[in-house]
Amino acid sequence: MKILMASSEAVPYAKTGGLADAVSALSLALAKLGHEVRIVIPRYYSVDRSKLRQLEGAMGVPMGGGEEWSAVYTTSLPGSPKKTPVQVYFIDHENFFGRDGIYGTPSEPDFLDNPRRFAFFSKAVFQLCRKIGWYPDILHAHDWPAALVPVYLKFGERREGFSQTASVLTVHNLGYQGIYSRDNYYFTGLGWNTFYNAGFEDWNMMNLLKAGLYSADKLNTVSPNYAEETKIQAHGFRLDGVLRYRSADYSGILNGIDSGIWNPAKDPHIPAPYSAKDLSGKAKAKEALRKEFGLPPGPESSAGAGSRASPPEVPVIGMVTRLVGQKGVGELFGPGYGSAFSICRDMNVQLVLLGSGEGWCEHEVMNLSSRLSNFKARIGYSEKLSHLIEAGSDFFLMPSQYEPCGLNQMYSLAYGTLPIVRNTGGLADTVEKFNQETGTGTGFVFDDLTPSAIYNTVGWAVWAYYNRRPQIEAMRLAGMKQNFSWENSAKKYMEIYEGLVKN
Ligand code: ADP
Repeated sequence: MKILMASSEAVPYAKTGGLADAVSALSLALAKLGHEVRIVIPRYYSVDRSKLRQLEGAMGVPMGGGEEWSAVYTTSLPGSPKKTPVQVYFIDHENFFGRDGIYGTPSEPDFLDNPRRFAFFSKAVFQLCRKIGWYPDILHAHDWPAALVPVYLKFGERREGFSQTASVLTVHNLGYQGIYSRDNYYFTGLGWNTFYNAGFEDWNMMNLLKAGLYSADKLNTVSPNYAEETKIQAHGFRLDGVLRYRSADYSGILNGIDSGIWNPAKDPHIPAPYSAKDLSGKAKAKEALRKEFGLPPGPESSAGAGSRASPPEVPVIGMVTRLVGQKGVGELFGPGYGSAFSICRDMNVQLVLLGSGEGWCEHEVMNLSSRLSNFKARIGYSEKLSHLIEAGSDFFLMPSQYEPCGLNQMYSLAYGTLPIVRNTGGLADTVEKFNQETGTGTGFVFDDLTPSAIYNTVGWAVWAYYNRRPQIEAMRLAGMKQNFSWENSAKKYMEIYEGLVKN
C-alpha cells in the first residue's frame, strides 16, 4: 500500500512533542511490514539543507491570492528498512518556514501567519505528489497543522491521480485545534460554501482541526480510552459533538514505544543493563540517581550494609514532565494547595523531578526543593537524565488532567518502575490498578484530580513498598512483560487503511 504521512513534525528533523516521535516510528513500522511509506514536512531552519537532495525545478502551489513557489528536498529516514525505505520530503519556503520556531517563538508562541503557513503546506502536499508522479492510496494527516489535507482532498482534490485516495486524520492532542480569525480563510483558496460544508465555522472563527474532523474518511486518536473520553463534553474541548457525530469512523490506537531506545537491557544512559531475569542493574541505577541528585545513599551502599540494624531501603518516586496544567502540576505544586509538600513531609520517601514549563511552577518546584531534604528537582530538558530517572525510581508519578496516550508510563513499565497515574486517557489503557487481595496489577491508579487523591495514592504505594514487598516485586515483573511495540500499532492502522481501500 502507498501511504503518505503529512505532518508538521517528524524526528529527527523537527520536534516539539510526542507527535514527532509517533509519525516517524509509525512510518518505520509500516515500512517494515512491507508498505511504501513517505513523509512530508515543512523545511524549517533547523533542518540542514546540505544533507538533503534537492528535487529539480521549483514547485508552484496555488493559494488564495495567487501562487506560492517553493523548493522540495528529500532524504530517506534513518533506520529505514533497506527494501522499503521511508522517503521524507521537505517543503522549502523561506518566507513561511525559514524561522527558528515551528509554531512560534517564546515571544510569539503562535505565529500570526500560522493559518496561512499551514494552508500552504497542506496544499503543497498535493502538488508534491503531482511533481513526483506518485499518488498514495492513503493520505494520513496528523493534528491541526495538516488538518486541511483531508479537507482539500474531499473538497476539490479527489480527481485524476487522487481519485482513489482516502484520508485518515490522527489527533495527538485535542487541546490544540488551530483556531484563527475567519479573515484567514481566504488563504485556503476554498469557497465560502465549503467554510460551512466542511465545518470550519466555530463561533465566528475558523477551526482547522474541526474541518479536518468533518472531512477525513477515518479519524483516530492515540489511545482507545482517550477516543471514548473525547466524545464527552468534559474532555472534548468543544469538539465532542463532532466526534460523536463521526463516532462510526473514529477509533483509538495506542502509540508504541521505541524499544531500541527505551530498553533497560541495552540503555547506554544507565550504569548497568538489567532485565526481568536479573534486576540488580536497577538497584545500581537507583544509587546513581540518588548520587546525581545529591540524595543520601540507601542502606545497601552505606557502611554496615546488610547488618540487621540497617534502616529500610527508602522508595524513590520519579517524575519527568512538562510543567504545565495538563500534567496535574497545579494539584502537586500549587502554592499552599498542592500535595507535594505534605507527601515529602509525611512520608519516608524521596522524590526527584526533571521538567520545565510554566514559570510559576518552575519557581515553586525550586522553592520546595530548597525547603525539603527529600525532594530534588532539575529544571531543564535532559534525555540522559530522563533515562536514569525511569531506571532508578521505584515509582513514577503522572497525575495528568488528561493524557491522549502518554509515553512515560509505558517507559516506566518497561523499566520495572511502577506508575502512579490518574485514571484517564492512555494512562487508563496501559496501567492496571494494584489489587491488594490478588496481588495483580502493574501500578497505582486514582480517579479524582485533587491534591488529597494524589497524597492518598502515593501514600498507598509507599505503604505497599514497605509492607507488601513481594507484591511490589511481582508487579515490576508483570509490567516488564508488557509489549507496547509499534508493530502492534502499525497493524491496527493497516486495518483502518485496508477498510478504506476496499470500499
Ligand atoms: P507530552 O507529549 O504530553 O509531553 P508524553 O508522556 O506523551 O507527554 O511524552 C513526553 C516525552 O517527553 C517523554 O518521552 C518524556 O520523557 C519527554 N520529556 C518531557 N519533559 C522532559 C524533560 N524535561 N527532559 C527530558 N525528557 C522530557
